[in-house]
Amino acid sequence: MNPLPTYADVVAASERIQGHAHKTPVLTSRTVDEQFGAQVFFKCENLQRMGAFKFRGGFNALAKFTPEQRRLGVVAFSSGNHAQAIALSARILGIPATIVMPKDAPAAKVAATKGYGGTVVLYDRYTEDREQIGRELADKHGLTLIPPYDHADVLAGQGTAAKELVEEVGPLDAFFAPLGGGGLLSGSALALRALAPDCSIYGVEPEAGNDGQQSFRKGAIVNIEVPKTIADGAQTQHLGAITFPLIQRDVTDILTASDAELVDCMGFLASRMKLVVEPTGCLGFAAARRMKGELKGRKVGVLLSGGNVDMARFASLLAAAG
Ligand SMILES: *Cc1c(COP(=O)(O)O)cnc(C)c1O
Repeated sequence: MNPLPTYADVVAASERIQGHAHKTPVLTSRTVDEQFGAQVFFKCENLQRMGAFKFRGGFNALAKFTPEQRRLGVVAFSSGNHAQAIALSARILGIPATIVMPKDAPAAKVAATKGYGGTVVLYDRYTEDREQIGRELADKHGLTLIPPYDHADVLAGQGTAAKELVEEVGPLDAFFAPLGGGGLLSGSALALRALAPDCSIYGVEPEAGNDGQQSFRKGAIVNIEVPKTIADGAQTQHLGAITFPLIQRDVTDILTASDAELVDCMGFLASRMKLVVEPTGCLGFAAARRMKGELKGRKVGVLLSGGNVDMARFASLLAAAG
């Protein structure tokens, strides 16, 4: 296997994405600081291009293509933010993009992907294997497959958000980020271990899908069924062959948050901070709140990973919570 990516890859990624990705704002809230008795810094990747940090990794991976790869094109499979990240990055770089999406993906997501110029190939998620479809398309047309998390260039790109955060506010004592397949967490950990060596680094999963926590405790990748949770960006069934060893080496612990806690955070971020954050994007904040007794007097980073949530769904989740 290739050597694991390093902080140097995150630095190179941050140069590559400069001028294309937004340097997203870091926001604070007096209310949160008072509740925590700590300084809490929110890195707002919900305000990133296409609405999530995934643009960073997608753009970094595509920017490294050879002229031949660029000419032939890219293929990705995803129902969510990775699809839009690849479609938008490909459009900017003039690379043809094919995105494999489930037939029952939200119409808005399919439309957004097409709107960025991607060719959408639909599949039946109950009878067909999206990975196989992606690989077949890659083989047949010479496309380069870019997976959503288990790829050195993708995770190095994702790490640029944590790098920006520490460069802006200084070394942190604790950092909380959502965890799906681990691209965001492993990339963030590369940046934090280099820039804030004493920082405690926490990945946060939905309670219903704690495969990462199980894997971390067991020391081997654990596979689970697709978890039932409103955090649709973290419904991954297992960590990756590259992300897992990085997480094992650099991360302090894996925590979980319930769907009810995520809705509560969504409501708070919307009403107090005027931020629209999707359920998955609230995982880090939810866990930090649960742990706030241990964070007193500390400097805490919370990564809000994305804001792509249909407004009707956003409203109904909040209404159902009362
Ligand atoms: C993809 C995604 C995640 C999880 O990222 P991984 O790199 O798979 O761990 C978290 N939040 C949002 C908004 C996402 O789109």
